[in-house]
Amino acid sequence: MFLMDAHNDTPYRMYFEGGNLSENNFQNSIQKQKGFRTLLFYAIFMDPEKLKKFPSPRAYFDTLYDYFVKELSQNKESVEWVTDASTFTKSQKQQAILTVEGGSLIKSVEAVDYLWSKKIKILTLTWNDSNLLGSSAMSGDAGGLTPLGRQVVQKMNSLGMISDLSHASDKTFWDVMKVSEKPVLVSHSNARSLCNHPRNITDEMFRALMENGGTLGINFYPSFLEDEPQKADLESIFHHIEHFLELGGENHIGFGSDFDGVDALPKGITDFSSFSKIIKEMERRNYPKNLIEKICYKNMMRILS
Ligand SMILES: [Zn+2]
Repeated sequence: MFLMDAHNDTPYRMYFEGGNLSENNFQNSIQKQKGFRTLLFYAIFMDPEKLKKFPSPRAYFDTLYDYFVKELSQNKESVEWVTDASTFTKSQKQQAILTVEGGSLIKSVEAVDYLWSKKIKILTLTWNDSNLLGSSAMSGDAGGLTPLGRQVVQKMNSLGMISDLSHASDKTFWDVMKVSEKPVLVSHSNARSLCNHPRNITDEMFRALMENGGTLGINFYPSFLEDEPQKADLESIFHHIEHFLELGGENHIGFGSDFDGVDALPKGITDFSSFSKIIKEMERRNYPKNLIEKICYKNMMRILS
């Protein structure tokens, strides 16, 4: 089964906790992907706390990036580092795309060229903290996209780098929708009408995402699935999937598990291998094969082509 997952923080965990990509005690590893042919988006997470210990955000990025690139090369028998999805279903190996979560290292448009030269395909414009590009969902800052943020989105459009609007404030989201001429990604967020959290998106935002041609990755973090997170389970994941399907999202949803970026998971979900349960549940619910394929990889593949 082909499977794309639009967000994990495995590089961050590996760097700060030690451990390798082939097997570890984390939520994602090559071993845990057994049985799937995967293309995963591995985020270099720009943690505002951790990067204070580095001379600059750029130095922090370079350190985590070099670490993970080395890890990829040590596992090159089983994982291939790619920048688009054109070879995904033909490759005999698992595939990895590198992304940056949080634009705090971008002080000028030239920094986008730097990330592009490093084969960074996707940039999550903000994390929980607002930055020079725009305001974030968790900051309560209503500023939206800044003039620099606007230039950065245009630059990314011209290069083919994808804007990821998970973590963006509503205002930033709407501002990017006006500026971006390319499909955007909302890599790891759910439906706010089912779980009232600022990290989730409203139905109106999802409709705009569909119009833009973009794709959203369903996040498994309990606090983004249920207003009472302790109640989150497999069923909760399906509430969000089916809500987006009811809005007409058949071509616009996929997965963005957030594995290794979260300290809790829904009941019954333990790590990457739990995807097999999710796919079995789709089959049990009589989802047509084509719909299962769209959610598992085709909708994510489209925005990467
Ligand atoms: Zn995140």
